[in-house]
Amino acid sequence: MRQSKMFIPTMRETPQDADSLSHRLMLKSGMIKQMASGIYTYLPITKLVLNNIEHIVREEMNNIDGVEIHMPVLHSRELWEESGRWQAYGDELMRMKDRHEREFALAPTHEEMITALLRDELKSYKKLPLTLFQIQTKFRDERRPRFGLLRGREFIMKDAYSFHSNEESLDVTYHDMYEAYARIFSRVSLEYRAVEADSGAIGGSHTHEFMALADIGEDTIVYTTESNYAANIEKAYCPVPEPPELSAMKAFDKVATPGVTSCQTLADFLEINLEETTKTMILKVDGDFIMLLIRGDHELNDIKVRDYFGAQDVEFATDADIRDTLNASPGSLGPVGTELPVYIDHQVKIMPDYPTGANVDEYHYINVNHERDFEVAGYGDFRFITEGEMAEDGSGKVKFMRGIEVGQVFKLGTKYSESMNLHVLDENGRSVPVLMGCYGIGISRTLSAIIESHHDGRGIIWPKSVTPFDVHIVTANHKDGLAREEAETLYESLSQDYNVLYDDRKERAGVKFADSDLIGLPYRIVIGRSIKEGKVEVKPRDSETAVEIGTEEVHGYLEKNY
Ligand code: ATP
Ligand code: MG
Repeated sequence: MRQSKMFIPTMRETPQDADSLSHRLMLKSGMIKQMASGIYTYLPITKLVLNNIEHIVREEMNNIDGVEIHMPVLHSRELWEESGRWQAYGDELMRMKDRHEREFALAPTHEEMITALLRDELKSYKKLPLTLFQIQTKFRDERRPRFGLLRGREFIMKDAYSFHSNEESLDVTYHDMYEAYARIFSRVSLEYRAVEADSGAIGGSHTHEFMALADIGEDTIVYTTESNYAANIEKAYCPVPEPPELSAMKAFDKVATPGVTSCQTLADFLEINLEETTKTMILKVDGDFIMLLIRGDHELNDIKVRDYFGAQDVEFATDADIRDTLNASPGSLGPVGTELPVYIDHQVKIMPDYPTGANVDEYHYINVNHERDFEVAGYGDFRFITEGEMAEDGSGKVKFMRGIEVGQVFKLGTKYSESMNLHVLDENGRSVPVLMGCYGIGISRTLSAIIESHHDGRGIIWPKSVTPFDVHIVTANHKDGLAREEAETLYESLSQDYNVLYDDRKERAGVKFADSDLIGLPYRIVIGRSIKEGKVEVKPRDSETAVEIGTEEVHGYLEKNY
C-alpha cells in the first residue's frame, strides 16, 4: 500500500486529553478518532490490526468446533424481560424506541438472544454439544468511558455460547475454551494471567478472567509466586483467621469522643492502632438495611457482600437513611442497641474489647464484645484481601499486580435456559434444561492492551502476529529520482511476500521517520543517499541499530530475520 493513498492522520503534538498510553499513541499515530464519549471511528491502521486479531480468534474458535453466526444488535424489551435483565442490567443498557414506541436495547451481550434462538431450533440432546460464536459491535453505557478503546461505550467483542446436555460436556468445552483463550492471548503477544473471578451480572457459578498485565489495568490481580494461584481481588478469599486464646473480657464503657469521625481519629484519640478499631457500615441489600462491621484498616468488598446475600444490588445507605434509621451520623455508628441485623467480618470475629460508635454523635463505646454486647446475624468474608496476607491456597503471601480484563469464560449452568425455557429431550425422553457456557473477548480492548505493552518513547512496536503491515519502505527524499525508482522496484518485489507500506509522500525526512516510528511496523527500509552505491538501511522497530545492506540482499535479510 502506498502511504500517499492511505489515511493515517498522525499528529505532531501529543494529545493532552488522552488518559492512557495506548489512547495517546492511537490518537497520535492516526489510528482512531473520537466521535463522542467512548465512541470511536477505527481508522485504517486500526482496522487492519483488528482484522488480524479477529483472524487469530476465528482460527482458535474454529479449532475447538466453534461455529460463527451473526445475531442482531437490536433486542426487544420483551426478550430481556424474560431473563429479568431489562431491569437488572440497569443504566449500562442502552435503550431506545422505534416509531411505534416499542422499546429496544442495543445489545451489551447476547445470552438472551442466543437462548431464544436455540429454544426454537433445538429439540433433542443429540444436537449437543454445540458452540456458536460471533464477532460484533456491543454497546454499554459505561459510567466512565475512558482510556480510549479500553473502556468504550461502543466496542467489538467476540462472544461465544456453548450448549450441553450434561456437566461433563460443559466442563470439556469450558476447558477447551480456556486453552483456546490462552493460545489467542499468547499469539497476540500479551503477557497475561488467567484468574479466578466473580461471576457478576451475567450470573453463573464458575468463571475465569484473562488479564493482560499492565499498570493502567483497572483490575487488581492477587497472586503468589509459590503456586499458580491467581484471583481477581473482587473474588480473592481472605483466609479465616485462627481464633485467639480466650481471655476475660473487659468492662464495656461509653466515652465522649469529641471531634472523632473516622477510624484513624478514633485510634489517635484512644491511643491504639488502627487495626484495633472497627468500622461500622449501614448497607442497603436489595432494599433492606443491614449493619456490617469490618476492621478499621480494611476495605469493604461490596461484591463479596452481594454474593454472601445472593443479592442483586448492594449500596451504602445515604446519610439521610442513616439519620432516619439510627438517628446518628456515619462517624459514630455501632452495633450495640441497634435493631438492624449485624454482620461481622471474620477478622472482627477474633477481636476482643474493641471500640465502636455509640449511635450518638461524638460518643463511642469501648471494650465491646460481640455476642456479649449485641447479637450477630452472621459472620463472613466481606473485605478486600491486603498484600502480604496468606493466600487462599496456603501456598504463600499474596502479592498484587494490575491487569486489563481482555477475556472471560463462564459456566452459566441453567440460569438462562431455565428462565427462558430452553429444554431438550434427554436419552430417556425427559425434558431437561440445557446447560450453557458463555465466553467473551474484548477485541478492541485487546488491541489497546497490546499497545500498552508494546511501545517505546517514539511509538508503537507491533508484534508480527497482528501488525498492520510487515515492512515500511521510506524514501528519505522523495524528490530524488533514483531513490524513487529503487523504492518502486523494492516495493513491487517485496509485496509478493510481505504486506508492505511504502511511504511515497513528499514530506521532510524527519516527519517521515517520526511517523514511521509512531506507526511501528516490524521492519523499516530507508532508501537514502547511499542508494547511489546500491545500498539501503534496514532497521527492526524493536532495535536501536540499523544495518546497511545492498538492495539485492533485502529479501534474504527479511527471510532470515522476519
Ligand atoms: P469490565 O469489568 O471491564 O467492565 P465486563 O466483565 O463487564 O468488563 P464482560 O461482560 O465479561 O465484560 O465482556 C467480555 C469482554 O468484553 C471483557 O472481558 C472485555 O474484554 C470486553 N469489554 C467489556 N466491556 C468493555 C468496554 N466497555 N470496552 C471495551 N471492551 C469491553
Ligand atoms: Mg468480564
